[in-house]
Amino acid sequence: MNTTSYFQAVTCNRCGGSGSYSWNAVHGSKCYGCGGCGYKYTKAGAAAQRYFAALLSKPAFLLKVGDRVRLDMGLSLVWATLVAIQKCPTTNTMTLTALTNQQESLRTQVMPDTLVRIEHTAAQKQTKAAQALEYQSALLAD
Ligand SMILES: [Zn+2]
Repeated sequence: MNTTSYFQAVTCNRCGGSGSYSWNAVHGSKCYGCGGCGYKYTKAGAAAQRYFAALLSKPAFLLKVGDRVRLDMGLSLVWATLVAIQKCPTTNTMTLTALTNQQESLRTQVMPDTLVRIEHTAAQKQTKAAQALEYQSALLAD
């Protein structure tokens, strides 16, 4: 697997961009250097990637019922629609209840400032990616 990166990256020097390295029983032949994607972000590329992720997210305290969110369920990231948001005043945590496309109910606890990824249309995503690329150019110009 050799995908190209959106933000500034360099070819992984461990695997030479192939994404695979010597095989082992635990991880197969996935390269440790790049996680199998064949490239590594430069400092500016990594910062732009984080900036992009933040642009596509909002802090949990701004979430509304009906938002399409990506929840971190430990082993996987799942897209679901928020059906309830409860705030616990004593622990200052929030419990998010959401329904997946398969109508499976998920519940997770977050802090009010936890960034939660919100679903975007391709066009919205493109606008934000352009913003992140501008941010990257500003970093590279320093
Ligand atoms: Zn690699």
